[in-house]
Amino acid sequence: MSANPDTVLTTDLDIDALRADFPILHQEVNGRPLAYLDNAASAQRPRQVIDAVSHYYGSDHANVHRGVHTLSQRATDAFEGARTKVRRFINARSDKEIIWTRGTTEAINLVAQSWGRPRLGEGDEILITWLEHHANIVPWQIVCEQTGARLVVTPMDDTGQIRLDEFERLLGPKTRLVALGHVSNALGTVNPVHHVIAMAKERGVPVLLDGAQAVPHMTVDVQDLDCDFYAFSGHKMFGPTGIGVLYGRESILADMPPWQGGGDMILAVGFDETVYNELPWKFEAGTPNIAGAVGLGAAVDYLDSVGMSNIARREATLLEHATRVLEEVPGLRIIGTAPGKAAVISFILEGIHPHDIGTIVDHEGIAIRTGHHCAMPVMEYFGVPATARASFAFYNTEEEADRLAEALVKTREMFA
Ligand code: PLP
Repeated sequence: MSANPDTVLTTDLDIDALRADFPILHQEVNGRPLAYLDNAASAQRPRQVIDAVSHYYGSDHANVHRGVHTLSQRATDAFEGARTKVRRFINARSDKEIIWTRGTTEAINLVAQSWGRPRLGEGDEILITWLEHHANIVPWQIVCEQTGARLVVTPMDDTGQIRLDEFERLLGPKTRLVALGHVSNALGTVNPVHHVIAMAKERGVPVLLDGAQAVPHMTVDVQDLDCDFYAFSGHKMFGPTGIGVLYGRESILADMPPWQGGGDMILAVGFDETVYNELPWKFEAGTPNIAGAVGLGAAVDYLDSVGMSNIARREATLLEHATRVLEEVPGLRIIGTAPGKAAVISFILEGIHPHDIGTIVDHEGIAIRTGHHCAMPVMEYFGVPATARASFAFYNTEEEADRLAEALVKTREMFA
């Protein structure tokens, strides 16, 4: 097992062996083998993650930090050990830069309230893009309401790519922060984040990346990206729900006030003065999700053992196959056709509501997501209320994509 995904040799993955690690995949749904194609909403967990959580509860659980008894020390070691694993996984400089949160949503809210609220004022601007998940829109709207700042949105084109010329134009003297998704959940577009960050840095503007859809599918190196904040969720990267991460550059985090108060985030409390804890605990008030962190650490080990470059390569092959077979379905239109996109296919079938599509293919044991995917502005841009979305993980197969295409052909015939 490698600590660094880049050191894993790129070999063809043994998909059957990998699938054997995921107990949930081996079941029938509505009398057909499950084809789980809803990974962008939440991926499944390998036995290694389930076992790590179970072992933690079965052997090591106690509250963390400051406990002198053995179980508390074991729990603390497991909890802080997971932080170190995550730090290595995204190549942050220090464990102080890894803050546990409930997920991407909470991580972005933390930045909006702790970084944004004290700094923003009338007329300041937060620059986002049209492609954002609601989690990277609404926290900024809230802080804009609180401070008088303004949300500015970079438009996109018909393929689902942000307009870099517009981004450059909108990145102005009033821009205080750029916040954008690394990979779009609704369309699969991989944003040109290196380019965007370079432009922002030139003007001294910090950048937050919403990495919820990137971290499970590609190597992410926050030092190489040179971003200031990076947010992601455990449950999308084969770990538990209710745990996620905010990476923040240490010098910026050190300057931010806590956003929630309580136990664990303090060094000393008096009625006249309270001394806050050091990083990263300053941002972790209350008993944390210890088992979630332990499970996420196991997920990182698992991803390392498979190799992120292998995963990216496997998913690109799957995407190519799935795109080809879906394009052959009469009346199907793919929404989001950016080159080099992630293995997410949003589509509509002429004359059939996406919810009907989702329900019908579920009868064939195929799980896809239908709706606005928490990206209503994207739907509005393409003039549709909703899409159907198949999103792949490395454990999916070409045969599952074929089954989806066949089920969609049948769906069309039912509505003809
Ligand atoms: N950002 C993106 C791009 C997402 O896809 C999601 C979830 O779908 C989120 C943010 C929110 O993640 P969570 O609900 O885990 O906080």
